[in-house]
Amino acid sequence: MSSQEQEHLNGAGFETRAIHAGYDPDPTTGAVNPPIYATSTYKQDGVGGLRGGYEYSRSANPTRTALEGALAAVEGGTHGFAFASGLAAEDTLIRSLMKPGDHLVIPDDAYGGTFRLVDKVVAVWGVEHSPAAVHDVAAVAEAVRPGQTRVVWAETPTNPLLNVADIAGLAEIAHAVGALLVVDNTFASPYLQQPLELGADVVVHSTTKYVGGHSDVVGGALVVKDAELAERIAFHQNAMGAVAGPFDAFLTHRGLKTLAVRMERHCDNAERIADFLTSHPAVGEVIYPGLETHPGHATAARQMRRFGGMVSFRVTAGREAALRVCERARVFTLGESLGGVESLVEHPGLMTHASVAGTDLEVPDDLVRLSVGLESVEDLIADLEQALG
Ligand SMILES: *Cc1c(COP(=O)(O)O)cnc(C)c1O
Repeated sequence: MSSQEQEHLNGAGFETRAIHAGYDPDPTTGAVNPPIYATSTYKQDGVGGLRGGYEYSRSANPTRTALEGALAAVEGGTHGFAFASGLAAEDTLIRSLMKPGDHLVIPDDAYGGTFRLVDKVVAVWGVEHSPAAVHDVAAVAEAVRPGQTRVVWAETPTNPLLNVADIAGLAEIAHAVGALLVVDNTFASPYLQQPLELGADVVVHSTTKYVGGHSDVVGGALVVKDAELAERIAFHQNAMGAVAGPFDAFLTHRGLKTLAVRMERHCDNAERIADFLTSHPAVGEVIYPGLETHPGHATAARQMRRFGGMVSFRVTAGREAALRVCERARVFTLGESLGGVESLVEHPGLMTHASVAGTDLEVPDDLVRLSVGLESVEDLIADLEQALG
């Protein structure tokens, strides 16, 4: 579906774009959803006579094209790209933008898989990196190397401490040294935060999380608003081949359509739970960007529509008590990942962040992380009450 056919979406609201962008009802059948094009190749009308540009499904597949159009539209970009996973998107992006000898600034509390990719895979290939406290603009100004830094990588809010980075401030610093600002927007989702509008050059998603939203598919995405950047990423997406398959693209696209209503409820429930935890005697610090006590609250209020569905907290009685909360919860499922309809609880120190134990990135061992889902909030609060009891 070319974008010219979708002029009625110019200026349309977020929800309208999420539901209609990327696909118009099929002209032959009227199907309102994109078919799952389970095909690797396409019949040519004479040599090189492609119908709609489709030649081979690594290069393009109509189910993926529909998702990519919708992703671009919800992030306020011009081009979207769908990948097999968030990390596949990141790897493709780094190789599109960087070459051996270049330098990258990465959050010192980056998603563990991102840090491992940069530190163990990309570094071997000859790209240098400096971890920096990206939620502190001054620390990034110190970490960039004019002429060598090609990318400043940000994540906001971060995992699991929910640090908030000033996207517009980082864009200024990156651009001043000729670098690009990449923002991993997974935790906020495009509904709550629009990094391209704030000056970022590339948005990254693990669509496995809020965009897909149902814990039933792994995927990743890149969105840009610059034609030259888009051309480079398109080349590498095809040359490296880590694309989303048509079944995965379909599921991710189906999830995206309800992102706005899901995020509103994720935020409602998370706010209620943050309030509940704040007044609970067994709980120490509650970490949620929506709380005025959070150091990133003002920045988050400026650049996010609301404050998201992730809440972390420290259990006063320490590590064993924190583990007990995780294991006693019934409505909250003990598990990694986030952003699905079901609430999840985890112990970052022993689960998602076990690999950074003993480093500067180590998280407190009395920390519990919640991905607040869409169940009845009274049931979620009652569950935490009994788990803390
Ligand atoms: C999960 C996640 C990733 C990696 O995505 P996958 O789909 O698991 O490859 C990257 N960034 C953030 C913030 C994540 O939460």
